[in-house]
Amino acid sequence: MNVDLHCHSTASDGALAPTVLVNRAFEHGVRTLALTDHDTLEGQLEARAAAAALGMQWVSGVEMSCTWGGATIHVLGYGFALDAPPLQAAIEQLHHGRWLRAEEIDRKLAIKGMPGALDGARALQMELGDSGNAPARPHFADFLVRAGYVKDRAEAFRKWLGAGKLGDVKQHWPTLEETVATLRRSNAWVSLAHPLHYDFTRSKRRKLVGDFLQAGGHAIEVVNGMQPAEQVGTLSILAREFGLLASAGSDFHGPGAWGEIGAWRPLPEDLPPLWCRFKHEQPSTV
Ligand code: MN
Ligand code: MN
Ligand code: MN
Repeated sequence: MNVDLHCHSTASDGALAPTVLVNRAFEHGVRTLALTDHDTLEGQLEARAAAAALGMQWVSGVEMSCTWGGATIHVLGYGFALDAPPLQAAIEQLHHGRWLRAEEIDRKLAIKGMPGALDGARALQMELGDSGNAPARPHFADFLVRAGYVKDRAEAFRKWLGAGKLGDVKQHWPTLEETVATLRRSNAWVSLAHPLHYDFTRSKRRKLVGDFLQAGGHAIEVVNGMQPAEQVGTLSILAREFGLLASAGSDFHGPGAWGEIGAWRPLPEDLPPLWCRFKHEQPSTV
């Protein structure tokens, strides 16, 4: 495909640096690209420069985590100014929340006789290339291995860091409504990422899409990589029913994983693609 509006770099959980990612996208025929790292804009300037050097259309992008109906939901934002104050403030708050979470994991491990986890995890993270972000559970796991408390990463998660274990400290995310409002106030186009990724019933999924539209959303991600064709059909029906624009992308995280950058199933021809709006219009401010 010559458009890709969903991919990740080393600025979040992707394997490739933004420049390498953009070059790879170009080689795979992509000419309009949005880098959508999780809850950060750190890779944007580098991606923009790399895209400009290749004559590609670059669109600013981000994938924000938020809560709705007891689940963590992902919302994509596009076409905003990188210095938009509402988005900058929201990301700063998430960044701060991640550090608080890391400190809490550190305290809990120290009580169990494993001191120095935050410093150790941070040191490991910086060996991988630093981002200024708080270390996450994989970094803590690697610290526990290095310090000899567990034999491998799997054991670290099984005993200390996995779901429901002591180190499984929940991050506080804003609500779907707050996140959509933040993006709208930042003049972004807003799309609901991969609505089928959640373990929802059909009626709950319809409610999610309805609430997203109500909150100010513009589009839903009808195609996420090489998801089965019947899922594209299900999401197309939702897009038509709610009168939403359609977005699409590979959700590429790195080579050798689940698919390639620029690879996603075609969008049904009757659906209005979000990216056709990028050149011509600005979303209205609310
Ligand atoms: Mn990811
Ligand atoms: Mn996602
Ligand atoms: Mn993603």
